[in-house]
Amino acid sequence: MKCPFCGDPNTQVTDTRENEDGDVVRRRRRCVKCDKRFTTYERIDLKMPHIVKRNGNRTEFDHAKLAGSMKLALRKRPVTIEAIDAAVDRIEARLLSMGEQEVPSEKIGELVMKELKKLDKVAYIRFASVYRNFADVDEFAEVIREVQTRPRRGKADKGGADPEHDLFGG
Ligand SMILES: [Zn+2]
Repeated sequence: MKCPFCGDPNTQVTDTRENEDGDVVRRRRRCVKCDKRFTTYERIDLKMPHIVKRNGNRTEFDHAKLAGSMKLALRKRPVTIEAIDAAVDRIEARLLSMGEQEVPSEKIGELVMKELKKLDKVAYIRFASVYRNFADVDEFAEVIREVQTRPRRGKADKGGADPEHDLFGG
């Protein structure tokens, strides 16, 4: 790091410390030539990857838009807005931690399905059905089977949460 006063490239680090959260490193430096002091800060440079759609178009990650799609899958389901936002935050953090410049949209779909599965099984089926486009009937049946771990039409099924009713109506 060159001296901002005289431009000399030889500076010494006299002190190094992290901030409370440990995400910024502060260094006190001294210029060997002019003896002036200055401080530098070092922080992690994390950027959200671009989303690459199936058609090859690239788009920015949009927290509000993703929360919107999840809300759609979760409409009339007993899940709070806060829980949805927290789920989107987790997806965002996961994408950041991948450290990639580009991520295929399929990856986002996977992460959304993972979160929905934890939040609400009905919403998970709704989303999975649209997202996977029902390329294959067996695939849909597989999704239904995956979420049918509870007894069908049993006492546990209060409140009429019937995934098939919700999906197909009637
Ligand atoms: Zn200097």
